[in-house]
Amino acid sequence: MALDIAGAGMTSQRARDRLILQLSRSGIRDQRVLEAIRQVPRHLFVEEALVHRAYENIALPIGYRQTVSQPFIVARMTEALLEAGSLRTVLEVGTGSGYQSAVLARLCERVYSVERILALSRSARELLSRLKIDNVSLRHGDGAEGWPAKAPFDAIILTAAPRAVPQELLMQLAPGGRLVAPVEDVDGKQQLVRYTHTDEAYVRDLLDAVCFVPMLSGAES
Ligand code: SAH
Repeated sequence: MALDIAGAGMTSQRARDRLILQLSRSGIRDQRVLEAIRQVPRHLFVEEALVHRAYENIALPIGYRQTVSQPFIVARMTEALLEAGSLRTVLEVGTGSGYQSAVLARLCERVYSVERILALSRSARELLSRLKIDNVSLRHGDGAEGWPAKAPFDAIILTAAPRAVPQELLMQLAPGGRLVAPVEDVDGKQQLVRYTHTDEAYVRDLLDAVCFVPMLSGAES
C-alpha cells in the first residue's frame, strides 16, 4: 500500500503548521528543530485509530503499551541536544515507533537507535525504510548497554525513564557531548536531566518535568 505522506484533513500540512506555531509559542526557538518536526509525517508513526490526532500536542499510543512523546517534549529534548552546535552521531535508547529517530535523522549525520521490543524495532525499520530515511541504524536489545561498537556519540537521548542514567551510556558520550534523559525519582516523579561531558566532569542540569514510560531491563522478543 502506498504511504500517505502528505496527509489530508487533520493530517494535512495545515495541521502540521498549526502544531509548529504552537511549539514556537511554547518556547521552542531552534528553527532547525521546528522545521524537522514540520517535515516528519507523525501520522504514520501512531496507531491507526488516532491518526486524526497526530498533529495535536499530545503523547499517543504506538502499541505494546508504549507511547510516542508529545511533540513539545520531542522538540525540547532535540533542542537541548543541539544547543552546542551540529551533531554527527546520536544514540537513542527506545526506538518505539521511530518518530524521534526520524526527527533526529534530519538534524545529524547518523542516528543509532536501540529498542527492547522486537516487534516495535521491526515496524520502525520498515516505516523508516519506506520513508527512504537511510541514515538511521536500528538494533534490537537492551539500550542500557548503549551501542559500544559505534561509540562515542556526540549526543545520547533516552526516551524511556530510568531511575538513574546508566554509567555505560555516559561512558559512550564523546568529549563535549550531551545526554538528555527523563529520570524518575523515588516518588515516581520524572524530570528531564541533561549531562554535558566536559574536560573534567559530567555537568548535570535539570530541564522540564516530564512523563515517560519506564526504562526496563533486558530485551523482549
Ligand atoms: N522514541 C520513541 C518513544 C517510544 S516510548 C518514539 O519516538 O516513538 C519508549 C520506548 O523505549 C518503548 O518502545 C520501550 O519499549 C523502549 N524501552 C524501554 N526500556 C528500554 C531499554 N532498556 N532498551 C531499549 N528500549 C527500551
